[in-house]
Amino acid sequence: TMDVDFIKSHLKAHPDFPKKGIVFLDIFPLLRSPVAFETLITHFVYRLTSHTIAASPSKKIDVIVGLDARGFLLGPLIALRLGAAFVPVRKRGKLPGRCVSASYEKEYGTDIFEMQADAIQPGQTVVVVDDLIATGGSAKAAGELIAQQGGKTLEYLFVIELPFLKGAAKLNAPVYSIVQAD
Ligand code: 5GP
Repeated sequence: TMDVDFIKSHLKAHPDFPKKGIVFLDIFPLLRSPVAFETLITHFVYRLTSHTIAASPSKKIDVIVGLDARGFLLGPLIALRLGAAFVPVRKRGKLPGRCVSASYEKEYGTDIFEMQADAIQPGQTVVVVDDLIATGGSAKAAGELIAQQGGKTLEYLFVIELPFLKGAAKLNAPVYSIVQAD
């Protein structure tokens, strides 16, 4: 559709970043254009109100979870439009108070994600947001943090998905992505 092409036209591929052989897809040109950024947020909110909420038994989304760090730039805007809470998932050691934690595989070894332990109440419905899903490892860890608190993940939202890495197959709820890249 028109808005998907418009959003896609604001993504930029950077070969050999952060190192040789990796093509990094950058969403920041999208945020530089107020019209493109608005189109992106409206696209996500339309998806959630027309599809995700309609398909959920409780007919609402209680919490938007954003992943460190670019999920923090998208999640709060979506949460405010829906009247939902925003909750960040951060790398270990950044959040004050009691936290729940989950580990995920990085290229070299494992990393740890945390969420504040009182951030999600049992039974709340949750949607996870990030800029890109690659292997799905970080989104899977976020899903584990939500499950540890008794939350129900309805969907995972991304601007970009790399389908050949099959990250969606790791997750406990459907993936919705605007742009599929190879
Ligand atoms: P995964 O855990 O799915 O393997 O990796 C996804 C995480 O890495 C996301 O938090 C995402 O921000 C980051 N990431 C990996 N590759 C890219 C990329 O090419 N572009 C962007 N924008 N983020 C990436």
